[in-house]
Amino acid sequence: MTINLLSDTVTKPTPGMLEAMWAAEVGDDVFREDPTVNALEAKCAALFGHEAALFCPSGTMTNQIALKVHTRPLDEVICDEMSHIYQYEVGGYAFHSGISVNLLSGENGILTPGLVETAVKPRFDWLPKSSLVVIENTCNKGGGSIYPPERIRSIRKVCQKLGLALHLDGARLFNALVETGETPASVGAEVDSISICLSKGLGAPVGSVLVGNQGFIAEARRVRKVMGGGMRQAGYLAAAGIYALDNHVQRLREDHTHARILAAALAELPYVINIRPVQTNIVIFDLAGDATPASFLEYLSKNGVTASAFGPQTIRFVTHLDVTGEMVQRAIGVLHAFPFGKQ
Ligand SMILES: *Cc1c(COP(=O)(O)O)cnc(C)c1O
Repeated sequence: MTINLLSDTVTKPTPGMLEAMWAAEVGDDVFREDPTVNALEAKCAALFGHEAALFCPSGTMTNQIALKVHTRPLDEVICDEMSHIYQYEVGGYAFHSGISVNLLSGENGILTPGLVETAVKPRFDWLPKSSLVVIENTCNKGGGSIYPPERIRSIRKVCQKLGLALHLDGARLFNALVETGETPASVGAEVDSISICLSKGLGAPVGSVLVGNQGFIAEARRVRKVMGGGMRQAGYLAAAGIYALDNHVQRLREDHTHARILAAALAELPYVINIRPVQTNIVIFDLAGDATPASFLEYLSKNGVTASAFGPQTIRFVTHLDVTGEMVQRAIGVLHAFPFGKQ
């Protein structure tokens, strides 16, 4: 069986999850009559200590809705240059919301209150209005990096002082929480809105949830509709999400252990350099000298390992629910046998 390290989005539902989906009670969620979607939304709101939540087809949609509801045209969003909302959402901030982006260079995608404070623009007619800060925890392009808990609090203070909203792109938030030991509610208390992905490490096939207060989510529901994201019997998908939250959070630690084992093995290899610090389930590294991502990925693929290029010399491995300890050992065997310098 292929060892798929492409992304934690590649997981397939487990038998237990499929059973939960099969058994779901459903209705038309556009009329808010799907009891399972309602249960998932209530569960997420309560988990983060917020008033309401909204189930959406993707994390791109939950983020884009958050940008739209928190801003007005001619505003700007402040975020790290590695942010998903800037790198991988097709420039949707401009398309959907008519806003610009003010990019900061944090450490592996992690911002500081000082960086945020100096980025906020003064109010002049000729400047965009800084109205929103987006932080990403964990940061994908930063190698699965984690925000230290007190850091979010101090960024929050800057936002409050200067009148900016704070959105957390928490596509992989639970990967951070199982490492820091924080509760979802303690993070929820520090931000205005949160997006979480059920379809990454948590192992659901589809879906993300946006969390916030009543007024925010009411408006978000309208924006979801105009983006084409109103779903009908979505309870089958929401059931997978509920199952994932109940059963797949604590096991994320295993994925992190697997990522650390892979990183330790990579550190021994002559053709690998610049392994980014591994804090969660993502391993990013560069290939040295002659080894190109194309030849390396082709070799891996021929030997039953799938991964992706993440830059001109850069490779990304992601561990997840469908990667076992035995697969990690097999992948390491394949890595050791790469004919570096012998092509
Ligand atoms: C994956 C991801 C998203 C959203 O992705 P979708 O594929 O649209 O669900 C958002 N932010 C981060 C940090 C991500 O890794």
